[in-house]
Amino acid sequence: MTRGNPCQLPGMLPNYDPNDNEAGMKILEDLTENVEQIQQRVLEEIITRNARTDYLKGFLDGQFDKQVFKKTVPVVNYEDIKPYIERIANGDSSNIISAEPIIELLTSSGTSGGQPKMMPSTAEDLHRKTFFYNLLVPVMNKYVDGLDEGKAMYLLFVKPETKTPSGLMARPVLTSYYKSNNFQNRPFNRFNVYTSPDETILCSDSKQSMYCQLLCGLVQRQEVLRVGAVFASAFLRAIKFLEDNWKELCSNIRTGHVSDWITDPGCRKVVSLVLNEPKPELADLIEHDCSSKSWEGIIKKLWPRTKYIEVIVTGSMAQYVSTLEYYSGGLPLVSTMYASSECYFGINFKPLSKPWDVSYTLIPNMAYFEFLPVKEKNEDGAQYVQCNGVCKESCMEKETEKEDVETVELVDVKLGQYYELVVTTFTGLYRYRVGDILMVTGFHNKAPQFRFVHRRNVVLSIDTDKTSEEDLLKAVTKAKVIVESLGILLIEYTSYADTSSIPGHYVLFWELTSKGNNHLPVLDPKIMEQCCSTVEESLDSVYRRCRRKDNSIGPLEIRVVQHGTFDALMDFCVSQGSSVNQYKTPRCIKSGEAINILDSRVVARFFSQKAPFWEPV
Ligand code: AMP
Repeated sequence: MTRGNPCQLPGMLPNYDPNDNEAGMKILEDLTENVEQIQQRVLEEIITRNARTDYLKGFLDGQFDKQVFKKTVPVVNYEDIKPYIERIANGDSSNIISAEPIIELLTSSGTSGGQPKMMPSTAEDLHRKTFFYNLLVPVMNKYVDGLDEGKAMYLLFVKPETKTPSGLMARPVLTSYYKSNNFQNRPFNRFNVYTSPDETILCSDSKQSMYCQLLCGLVQRQEVLRVGAVFASAFLRAIKFLEDNWKELCSNIRTGHVSDWITDPGCRKVVSLVLNEPKPELADLIEHDCSSKSWEGIIKKLWPRTKYIEVIVTGSMAQYVSTLEYYSGGLPLVSTMYASSECYFGINFKPLSKPWDVSYTLIPNMAYFEFLPVKEKNEDGAQYVQCNGVCKESCMEKETEKEDVETVELVDVKLGQYYELVVTTFTGLYRYRVGDILMVTGFHNKAPQFRFVHRRNVVLSIDTDKTSEEDLLKAVTKAKVIVESLGILLIEYTSYADTSSIPGHYVLFWELTSKGNNHLPVLDPKIMEQCCSTVEESLDSVYRRCRRKDNSIGPLEIRVVQHGTFDALMDFCVSQGSSVNQYKTPRCIKSGEAINILDSRVVARFFSQKAPFWEPV
């Protein structure tokens, strides 16, 4: 790749040997130097390929012009393109949104009508992802030496998949990638050797998969140079699993035999090979560390050569930083990338920076990027602040008529400004609002770097679930009918994501009163538990999957508070600068002080007693 000719392969992907660090670095330099030129070529390429698709021809009328594209193709939400996606799912094979065949649909953690949004994917897109993953290697090598002298214990999982009426696969983006040829037949790269055999990653039984991956990681502990999972929540779940299962794991290591309940044939075979023979000394060492009263620094003890933990700790995952720090023994927490089902976006060029300082540089040949300036301010006039990736207090972002607002190109974003990301992808999304709010923090060469601020309209998140104020209202409305039929009124509510234990869970604070007499009613635990379950049943399919299938969210809790609690909350918010006139009860609380105000007035606590129904779409 040279400066005048930034990309060589179709789809704007430069061809290079991923084992060649210098070549990788050079590509990153070129990509970040030639941002404007590459972005223009990406848009040209996408329009040229797809101008005759059903979707674009309606707007472009056969023209291949970029200006016409920006003038006539609207900025859209998922609801706008849903009918086109549904046509694909139902087997219409014409060029609906993409000239390249759509080979599968990627189910996003963002939902529409309670079900995952489905994003198109093409064969070429898998190569784009591989190209992106390969670029992460030279960046890490720049900051950490000797990563080729050992292995990575990455705990990676596949999730359930289903087929659309036309037979297309519908599954999460990472499941799609791990099951692809690009992952399973990846060429050897000495910087990317994993302790988890592919069979353990691809095992659809998440418990067997977790057990086997941890077993392999423990057996190879002296070779492990880095540990991780995609998201912080998944890594913490693995630590919890280890806490619950270390005795059995050690027993397997001691005897050299994997437990009988590991029935997946692929897993049994590869794990037996890794276990190989009885290893009583190794089992003793691990038992010694795990039986310690405190698990502070356990990662460093169990995997003593580990240099860092690779997990995304930005956005909603920031809430796990302190817990991870407790277990990590001071190891750096590295968020390498920012990506989604729609498209892989950006790379963290300073992987060792602290979680709060992480920025991602958008890679200009991944998609054509545009930005909707976000100007809204908090009620008290404050700008957006780092808020664990979800909206602070009551959602401060007021939806504006974004259609009236002009988008800004990647090279034109301004330092310190907030934007919502809009993408035009190689897979058939055109000027699509991703829903993420980003802030420009600086530039790498000519490429802007962004801090992930939060996801639009999300108030609660524990794992990959994204619950909006509206979702919550709907669910609470269904549940409150149950108490209303008993003469009890729900007069106020709010919520927070309690991540003080693993897995975290949603907490609702409810202020209740008896109809007619303004007294706190006598509460039947069974009825209140039913309310908890009803809220859970009413939340979207990603919440229900996390709760039921992945066990990554614990039972929802309702904490009933004494009368006057929400007045105390209002007093607190007003003391913090909220205007009395405009005060509205925040539907989600993040501030520790506000949570303490509510918690100190709790009179009863109830938990959901059954996991909600869930099945793949
Ligand atoms: P999905 O479509 O389910 O793959 O989810 C993608 C979304 O996850 C993005 O649009 C972001 O909201 C969030 N996300 C992905 N990567 C990061 C990251 N590095 N930091 C913060 N949020 C992220």
